[in-house]
Amino acid sequence: MPEDRSLELSGEALRGVIEAATERLLDHVASLPRQPAADTEGGEELARSLRESLPETGRPLEELLDLLFERVIPKSFNTAGPGYLAYIPGGGLPHAAVADLISGITNRYVGVFAAAPGVATIEANAIRWFCEMVGYPPDAGGVLTSGGSLSNFSALVTARRKLLPENFLVGTLYVSDQAHYSVAKAAMLAGFPEGSMRRIPVDGAFRIRVDALAEAIGRDRAAGRRPFLVVGNAGTTNTGAVDDLAGLGDVARREGLWYHVDAAYGGFFALTERGRRVLAGIERADSIALDPHKGLFLPYGTGALLVRDVEALRKAHAVSADYMPPMQEDPQRPDFSQLSAELSRGWRGLRAWLPIAMHGIGPFRRNLDEKLDLTLWATEQLRSISGVEILAEPQLSIVAFRLRPAGLDEEAVNALNRDLLQRINARRRVHLTSTLLRGRFAIRICVLSFRTHRDRMEEALEDIRAEAGTLYHD
Ligand SMILES: *Cc1c(COP(=O)(O)O)cnc(C)c1O
Repeated sequence: MPEDRSLELSGEALRGVIEAATERLLDHVASLPRQPAADTEGGEELARSLRESLPETGRPLEELLDLLFERVIPKSFNTAGPGYLAYIPGGGLPHAAVADLISGITNRYVGVFAAAPGVATIEANAIRWFCEMVGYPPDAGGVLTSGGSLSNFSALVTARRKLLPENFLVGTLYVSDQAHYSVAKAAMLAGFPEGSMRRIPVDGAFRIRVDALAEAIGRDRAAGRRPFLVVGNAGTTNTGAVDDLAGLGDVARREGLWYHVDAAYGGFFALTERGRRVLAGIERADSIALDPHKGLFLPYGTGALLVRDVEALRKAHAVSADYMPPMQEDPQRPDFSQLSAELSRGWRGLRAWLPIAMHGIGPFRRNLDEKLDLTLWATEQLRSISGVEILAEPQLSIVAFRLRPAGLDEEAVNALNRDLLQRINARRRVHLTSTLLRGRFAIRICVLSFRTHRDRMEEALEDIRAEAGTLYHD
């Protein structure tokens, strides 16, 4: 066979590829504010038209870029745009993607310290910065993950390995009924039967009832079960509710449980003074899940699991093999593969490190503070719309509301609000989503993109006011 070197692009060819992509990306970013907040009309047909069999020969790059930027990418929720106030936004800093370009092209190995000590240290710096943000001591550590789901999973496995016997089926874990479903998924993946997870009721502000938690633990012990883990919420996905994190710490200590805080949405608000107050006690957790692809505005695929006791994380994840190099014992020289479920993976740390190294943390702090202000502002505006009821006051940057005309039963109110949400979104300047709060259909606003500012929030409120007005007047 003749050798084929066509995969080894020349310097000129590689420059051409990068520049062609750069052109498209710059146009894309510049047009974000004008793009619809969501547009999936015709998405099904598009998806059908994209199914293809394995090509033997290639097509010109320009044709592929046309396909991506003109057809594929526009048919979607515009999760990078300023009008995306749905689920949990973040936006995706484009310069974090430049870090991805560097890490992808240099393709260094970050799973084993000895393979690239500097590369691993840059990633460790990012983790240490996160520890500092949540008030963890200098000897705390952790790993970067693909997101909060995997962080919660690794935390749960760590707690299980530390506190339960090999036959762990007697174990029980505790979450509020507002916890993210990734905790239930983690328990399922870790091998716990359905009945191992206790869903503790919440108070009027959607915070776990610490008294009910203590009772449930007592009942389980009396029945011969082994309570081992409590998961607190530092910002629920539904309403942004923050549990009594100090109170949960007390219960966990008294009962000898592992204390994990799911701060995937809310954790980075600890950078602000107000956030720190709301999140008081988070530093008492044994482990904390953070999602830099939410509150630090990084592109999707960046989560973090922080632990107070790095040794516990290692004991839960470390295995050895003859073909692996010797591992370090020194926490200053982390072998990330020994602390996580992954071995080969991308250099996630660079995309977290580069934007912070470029800007310092100040702009992130100020952006998060601004999101808290915008949410309070939006809540005041919502209150002034006749017929609107606030279903969840903001604790961080989420507010939930509904239109509630007098004289309608709950079912009719739910139907009305489903209609209202659709009408707001049809204007395409903002994209909102809904949830159910105590059986009530609630419209949520979540402000967390670095691109969302007062101008877009005014548009959001204009649209809500106008559509609420068409559906209801006194
Ligand atoms: C988003 C979220 C998760 C899941 O994180 P992924 O990054 O989507 O895997 C878990 N918990 C909370 C509170 C979240 O907001």
